[in-house]
Parts: sequence; C-alpha cells; structure tokens
Amino acid sequence: MYEKYDVVIIGAGAAGMMSAIECGKRGRKTLLIDHAKKIGEKIRISGGGRCNFTNLNTSPIKYISKNPSFIISALNQYNQEDFIDLVKKYKIKYHEKKLGQLFCDNSAQEIIDMLLNECKLANVVLKIDTKVIEVSYKDKIFITRDNSKTYLSSSLIVATGGLSVPKIGASKFGYDLAKQFNLNVIDTVPALVPLTFNEKILNKCKLLAGVSANAIISLKKTLFEEGMLFTHRGLSGPSILQISSYWKEGESLNINLCPEKNIFNFLLDKRNTSPKQNINSIINSFLAKRLANIICEENQIAGNIGGLSNKNIKKLSDSINNWIVEPIGTEGYKTAEVTLGGVNTDELSSKTMMCKKHPGLFFIGEVVDITGHLGGYNFQWAWSSGFVAGQHA
Ligand SMILES: Cc1cc2nc3c(=O)[nH]c(=O)nc-3n(C[C@H](O)[C@H](O)[C@H](O)COP(=O)(O)OP(=O)(O)OC[C@H]3O[C@@H](n4cnc5c(N)ncnc54)[C@H](O)[C@@H]3O)c2cc1C
Repeated sequence: MYEKYDVVIIGAGAAGMMSAIECGKRGRKTLLIDHAKKIGEKIRISGGGRCNFTNLNTSPIKYISKNPSFIISALNQYNQEDFIDLVKKYKIKYHEKKLGQLFCDNSAQEIIDMLLNECKLANVVLKIDTKVIEVSYKDKIFITRDNSKTYLSSSLIVATGGLSVPKIGASKFGYDLAKQFNLNVIDTVPALVPLTFNEKILNKCKLLAGVSANAIISLKKTLFEEGMLFTHRGLSGPSILQISSYWKEGESLNINLCPEKNIFNFLLDKRNTSPKQNINSIINSFLAKRLANIICEENQIAGNIGGLSNKNIKKLSDSINNWIVEPIGTEGYKTAEVTLGGVNTDELSSKTMMCKKHPGLFFIGEVVDITGHLGGYNFQWAWSSGFVAGQHA
C-alpha cells in the first residue's frame, strides 16, 4: 500500500536534484518525483542550450526578495565556487561569456547528466511522469499521493519552481501547497521578461527589428548597462529583461542608447568644429544606421549640424541619452525566465530552508521569494538552497 522514505522531494529541477543528492549522500532514503516526462527541462533550454549555470560575482545584491539578506546563509553554505568544483570534477568544459556568467562550452545536457549521475551515486529513487495530486500531514508524517501510490516520509521538500514556461512543466502546485500549510505566499509576477509597448513605440521597434545597442536602462535608482534589442514585439535583450524584474505598471523607463557619450556636448562641439557635416552621418557614427535615421526623422532634423539650434540639439540628444518610454505590460509567464514572489522567506529558516511552523517541510529554489538577476544567479540560488535543505531534511 505504502512506500516509506525518509525524504520525498517534489520537483526534479535544479533545486530538487541538488537537494536529493545531498539527502542521499547523508544516507537518507530519498524519493525524487517530477510530473514531467523528461528531467531538468529548464536546465536543458537555459542559456540558449548551454546553461549559464552560475556567476562568478554571485552575492546577495544580485537578488530580489522582500528580505534580501535571507540568501546570505545559503550562499555561505554553498556558493558558486562549490558548484564550479562539481562541474570541474565531471570535466565539463565551460567559459565565462561576460560579466562573470559561466556557460557550458558544449551543452546544458552535461549539467543534467552530471546531476543525474550524482543522484544515482547517492541512491536517490527517481520517478518521472508522476503527478503529485495531494499532500497531507498526520502524526509527524507527510503523506504524498500520486495517481497510483502513496509515499510516507518524515521530511518533504517542495522544489516545484516558478510559473514561467508552463509548457515544460511549470505549475502552481508549490504555492498551493504552501497555502494549504497556512504559509504566506507573496504575489507572483513574471520577471526577466520582454516588455510590451503602445502602438507608437511598437511601430518604431518594428522598423528597427534586429537592431541592438549597448544601453543603460534605468528606473528610479536601479540601472542596468547591457545589450538592448529592438524586436517585432517591442524591446528585449539583457538590459530590458533585467529592468523588467523591477518595473511596475505605470512606471517609465529611461533609456540611454549611447552611454559612452554626452550627446549634447558632443553635438555642440561638432557644430563648432565641423558645421558642414551632415547630422545624420554624425549620429550614424555612433549608432546603428537605421536607428540614426529614425531618430533624425522623428525629431524632423536634417541637413548640416551648423544649422541646428541649441533647442534642436537638446531634443536630439535627449532622444539618444534620455529616451523615456512607458511600457504597457510584459509578455507574461509564456516567455518570462523567472517568477518574482513566492513563499515568504519569513516562513522559512535561512539556515535550513525548513518552515518555522512545520518541522520537516522545506521549500527551495524558485518557489521561494528569491529571484536573481539575469546571468546564472537563479541557478546558483537553486543549487545553494537545494544543498542547504539536503543537509537538514
Ligand atoms: C528559457 C529560460 C532560460 C533560463 N536560463 C537561465 C540561465 O541560463 N541561468 C540561470 O541561472 N537561470 C536561468 N533560468 C531560470 C532557471 O531555469 C530557474 O530559476 C531554475 O530552473 C529554478 O530551479 P527550480 O529547481 O526551483 O525549478 P525548476 O527548474 O522549474 O524545476 C521545477 C520542477 O518541478 C516540477 N513540477 C512542478 N509542479 C509539479 C508537480 N505538481 N508534481 C511534480 N513535479 C512538479 C517541474 O516539472 C520541474 O521539473 C532560465 C529560465 C528559463 C525559462
């Protein structure tokens, strides 16, 4: 009738696998369950198929949470160097792409295979294509049911991830379970997601689809300097994804399309030194041609720089150094990389990831209200929180 385990883990993604490995290593009889037909789908599709598995610059300031210092303990127990050591042990080749982001040279599948092998070595029992339909708790035992079986365990780890990309297994199961156990769940919102815009901006984006710029995008005191991409659907690229995690409806973004130049001063100088130079070709010397054309067109500016008034130079420089845009929304969970919000960290011990109210119940990974910036930080949170729960479940 029943299968008995020390630990049952729901969700065999990055966090779930890491916690299973650590529980198994401690000799705990561990069951890892996932409703997906394939293991680690998010790892497989991550980083364009090469998995940006951690970041050399991992630190608490790279995370968003109601309580940003919650992550300190998990990072102290298991950090980027610890995961890099594991990757090295498996001789997986990797490289730093930029800004401390570490990617596999070959394929994300190598990370999945490494984790699966570690699970095997730790005697973890893995059940895929198995949907958990109910969890209850009686006499200090968690009772987890799937369609055909019941599993009893003294510890239960919930690692069901966030809501992004539902077609590869994302579910709200973990949030519902937290509510069932009377835990506070902070409202969830798609993050690291392309933003959408009104028709006027969208038309401009369509004309510029494929053009990229190294931009600084800022919102109040938060700013990111990374690539920005014009697409048929709006604005995308790393800097837009990063700021999307901070953006709220009604707020405007400030986009600097040429951070390395103070365009106003540069154009004033040009007007003095080369008055006969064509304004369009001046702008084109530091911005992509199509972008330069559109900026001149929308400001109705043409001809030689010598003929430009201070007012027009200011207008032109503002639309390059200080372009204000107000998004109307986001593309939502369909294309979001992560989910903001989740199980309130006030409910959990930062040292163990166990619920303060319910001994034996753990929440780890993206289902918790910890969200990393783009760049390998989200996987590092999954590894760190998984490791920590694995020492205590
Ligand atoms: C396109 C894309 C690219 C990304 N690239 C990167 C990157 O390069 N670097 C980075 O750091 N982060 C990246 N991320 C984010 C990263 O993938 C997640 O933050 C991370 O996978 C979270 O790990 P997790 O184990 O908490 O959840 P997940 O990896 O989502 O795992 C949750 C698991 O739980 C299972 N599950 C859910 N509900 C149930 C249920 N009821 N019963 C049984 N099983 C269930 C799911 O099938 C899934 O396997 C990317 C995300 C996306 C969508």
